[in-house]
Amino acid sequence: MFPPIQLFMGGDKKIPLKFKVYSVLYPIKIFIKSLINKLKGARKSKIFGTNYVGGEKMGNFNLNGKKAIVFGVANDQSIAWHIAKKLNDVGVRIALGYQERAEQLVKPLLGMLNNPLAIKCDVVDDVLLTEFFEKIKQEFGQVDFLIHSIAFAKKEHLQGKFYDVTRRGYQVAQEVSSYSLAELSRRAAPIMNENGSIITMTYYGAEKVTPNYNVMGVAKAALEACVRYLANDFGEKGIRVNAISAGPIKTLAASGITDFEKMLEHAQQKAPLKRNINADDVANLALFLCSDMSKNITGQVVYVDAGYSIMGV
Ligand code: NAD
Repeated sequence: MFPPIQLFMGGDKKIPLKFKVYSVLYPIKIFIKSLINKLKGARKSKIFGTNYVGGEKMGNFNLNGKKAIVFGVANDQSIAWHIAKKLNDVGVRIALGYQERAEQLVKPLLGMLNNPLAIKCDVVDDVLLTEFFEKIKQEFGQVDFLIHSIAFAKKEHLQGKFYDVTRRGYQVAQEVSSYSLAELSRRAAPIMNENGSIITMTYYGAEKVTPNYNVMGVAKAALEACVRYLANDFGEKGIRVNAISAGPIKTLAASGITDFEKMLEHAQQKAPLKRNINADDVANLALFLCSDMSKNITGQVVYVDAGYSIMGV
């Protein structure tokens, strides 16, 4: 018998000192950030004379009054956080699905969102998933967007030879990083409005060999295939499904990849624009993929990588 997936995922490991220090400093950092955010909002309200809540006016990107489910916020560096914040700032109400182990870092962020919902959920736990969607139905009724920004593989499978991955390691990576898109989409679709948009996050390692990315590259390849099949399934409901293929960004998940710093350096040197991207670039693309500006784009992998993926040598 396999051990329960939560155990395998290292929930019972000793917390490193570095993380303990980070947890103490983190709320202070978030407090300062939210203060700056509020001040900026107040200043812009004065200028625009509106009930401005932060962020930019988006013209044709009119998402005011829409609702989004966002999975994948672990802290303020998470890609999912940047997307949630950007959507929030154009008037979208946010429901976060977060893992219990991220609670301490997620809670302080909620003050930066307008009337958010935040519900503990793990995509490998059917009971939590059912509870999550029941609460969403009660509070939101219908939703417009689903952001899937989650992935997991054991650190030991993000280094060395791909063939050293264990059967269980392979399964876990696929279950959390790829299958969960189908699972969340199936549960969300019945309460999604027409013109809904589902977005997931992928990486170029799905297509080309990237040292150390290993099992995650294989999971991302499956994820990208899921996007195409789901886009076809949900097309008749008017729901679009796309993946954003982002260049490397320093986040918690990225820190699990051996030699990630080298990936960043390499991406910068090789990309036509000679720079790395950041999570805000990804959030901008997500905003576009949520809006009607992209109403005829579905089943695609869209790149935000400073052009890295077009290069041969
Ligand atoms: P992150 O660590 O901030 O986010 C990963 C999230 O996955 C975390 O919030 C974690 O709680 C969540 N997660 C993991 N297992 C889960 C489970 N069982 N149930 C629910 N949630 C679970 O890192 P990130 O870089 O923001 O990653 C977000 C997505 O972007 C991932 O799919 C990642 O592969 C992808 N991506 C990241 C980069 C990069 O360089 N950072 C590049 C391309 C794609």
